Amino acid sequence: MNNNITVLEIDGKAILHNLNYFKQKLQENTKILAVVKSFAYGSSSVQVAKFLEDKVDYFAVAYANEGIELREAGIKTPILVLHPQIPNLQSIIDYRLEPNLYNFKIFNAFLKLADQVPLMNYPIHIKFNTGLNRLGFWHTDIPKIITSLKATTHVKLQSLFSHLAASEDLEEQDFTVNQINNFAYIAQQFYKYLDDEPMLHILNTSGVINYPKAQFNMVRIGIGLYGFGNDKHETNQLKNTHNLKSIISQIHIIQPGETVGYNRAFTAKRPTLSATIPIGHADGISRRLGNKKGFVLINNQKAPIIGNVCMDMIMVDVTKIKCTEGDEVIIFNTQEMVQHIAKTSETIVYEVLTGISNRVKKVLKS
Ligand SMILES: *Cc1c(COP(=O)(O)O)cnc(C)c1O
Repeated sequence: MNNNITVLEIDGKAILHNLNYFKQKLQENTKILAVVKSFAYGSSSVQVAKFLEDKVDYFAVAYANEGIELREAGIKTPILVLHPQIPNLQSIIDYRLEPNLYNFKIFNAFLKLADQVPLMNYPIHIKFNTGLNRLGFWHTDIPKIITSLKATTHVKLQSLFSHLAASEDLEEQDFTVNQINNFAYIAQQFYKYLDDEPMLHILNTSGVINYPKAQFNMVRIGIGLYGFGNDKHETNQLKNTHNLKSIISQIHIIQPGETVGYNRAFTAKRPTLSATIPIGHADGISRRLGNKKGFVLINNQKAPIIGNVCMDMIMVDVTKIKCTEGDEVIIFNTQEMVQHIAKTSETIVYEVLTGISNRVKKVLKS
C-alpha cells in the first residue's frame, strides 16, 4: 500500500464485527438497513456498500446523488433516499432508487411522474413526523395519503417510517416512547385501510440499544456500524472502523524564542523538534485542536499539535519522540482517540467522522 500519503483505512473486519453485534440484538426476522450517507460517515460509501451488500437488506443515503454513485458502482441492493428533492425524482427512477416521500408536494410530484412514465408498483417509502420536526407527514395526513395510494397501481408502499429525536438520551424516555406509540398507531391505520402491509421502521443505532422492543420490521444502523454506541458499555463492545494515518513530511529544529506556524502561535521555550504532517483543517482536523489541545501518535507516543492547524498541515512536537521523516503518524485509530477529538473540538463523533474530507484517500481493508 502507498503509505506516502494521508489515508483513511476503513477496517472491514471491524464493520462486520459491529454489524454482527447489532444482529445479535435483533429478532430473527428484523431486517437491517445500513446507513451509508455522507460517504459512509466520512469513509467511502461505495467501498462500504460493496463490502456490506450481501450482508444487509437495505442501504440508505441522504441525497439522490449518493444513491446514483452506489448504482454506478454496481450496487444492486435496495437504496432508500432519505431526503430526495423534486428535481431529482426522475434520476431516482432512472437509477431505481427508492424515495422517502415526506410531504404532499413531493408525494404528488412523484405520483404524477409515476403516472407519466408509467411505473408499475414502484417502491416508495413514507415518513411520518412523530416529534423530531424535521421531515415527515403529520398523522392527520393519513386519510389523504391512503386515498391516493388506493387510487394508483404505479407505486407500492414499501415502508412506513419515522425517526427518533432523542433515542440516545434516557432522560427523554417518555418522549421517545410516545414517538414509538404514535408511530405504531399511524402504522395501524395503514394496515387497516390498505391491502399492502408496508415494512415499518423507526430505530437508529441508539434506538436499537435503548428500545429493542420497537424493532418493527427493520432497523436503520449508522454510527453503530462505524464503532460507536450511545454509551461507554456499548461502544466497548464495538470496534473502531476509521483509522486515519499520515506520515512525517519534515522535521525542524526550533531554537528557543523561535515560533512555529501561522500567527506565530507557538513559541519555543527550549530547543524543540517540530514535525510537519500533511493533514489540515481542509482534511477535517478542526482548528480547535491546535495549540496543544489535540495530539497525534508517532511510534506509540503522543505528539501534541503546536501552533495553529493550517489548511493542509499540522506541526506536532516530537522533541521527546524518537522518529524520522517518513515515519507513520496516527491521527486516530481507536474510539477513545475519536472521542477525544470530538470532545476537544466541541462536537460529537458523527461530525469528526463525516468531517474527514475527500481529499484524504479512503481504503477499505477486508
Ligand atoms: C442518519 C440517520 C440514521 C442513522 O442514525 P445513527 O444514529 O447513525 O444510527 C437513521 N435514520 C435516519 C432517518 C437518519 O437520517
